[in-house]
Amino acid sequence: MATDNKNNAANEAAKKALEAVNAKKAAEKKKVEHTYTQVGQQSTNKEELLAITKQNARPYRIAAFILWALAIACEVFAVLIFFHKVEFKFTTENPGWTIAWIALLVLDLILVIIASRLWVKANHLDPAPATNKTKFWIHNNLGVIISVFAFVPFIILILTNKDADKKSKTLATIVAAVALLIAGVSSADYNPISQEEMLEAADIDTVFWTASGTVFHAYDDCQHLNHTVELLTGTSTTAIENGKTRLCKTCEARALKEAEEIAEKLPGEDKAPETQGEATTAAAGN
Ligand SMILES: [Zn+2]
Repeated sequence: MATDNKNNAANEAAKKALEAVNAKKAAEKKKVEHTYTQVGQQSTNKEELLAITKQNARPYRIAAFILWALAIACEVFAVLIFFHKVEFKFTTENPGWTIAWIALLVLDLILVIIASRLWVKANHLDPAPATNKTKFWIHNNLGVIISVFAFVPFIILILTNKDADKKSKTLATIVAAVALLIAGVSSADYNPISQEEMLEAADIDTVFWTASGTVFHAYDDCQHLNHTVELLTGTSTTAIENGKTRLCKTCEARALKEAEEIAEKLPGEDKAPETQGEATTAAAGN
């Protein structure tokens, strides 16, 4: 009898544990109750849309250029301090002198990184056309190019100078080279978007986005929207006008999959890529 009781208790415990797991799963599955705010479209054609995206990006571009200019100014100042062309009481000798030029290089680095991130943000709001590959690359990697200008002249001037002591020259070169590496890596746009890609996504009737997000969604039950109650909705052109310039990757994959399933169900339908493309747009619009 005692064994039976034990077994019952064990079964009971297992059942409870299972119930708890299922309840947890159900809670996770449960979707958020969204609220929707309809947003109206401002542009009626491609030119108007591009004018709006250009306007959206402008403050970020201006800020990026100002910060890049300040970064170069820090570099110039670091050179002047290093060669004692400009002196303050605390920079006439060590350690004030070393601290001063290193601090200026660090400030140079911080400014370059912030400016480059703003530039990337501007490029995502207002992508460049990909028709000219070189121009497109320069546009998207301007931060990397400015990084070179923000540190390489300093390195060259230090290395070619005959008066500075070897120890300081080595330290300055290492500090500037490391800063250049960090600036270059953090300034690149690893996920650039082209104007063509943006315009291609601008024909979906109903999409959803969040105030803080950077993409728009074709499905309001997309997993990335599970943590946001307030959704904004409108055409994908409206989403682009509001700075959400590309379709969410998860929604894109889902739309493609659904389009493929539809294509498979249709008898005698050929599954050419262009058919899939059309079906994608249709599915994404639902
Ligand atoms: Zn999505």
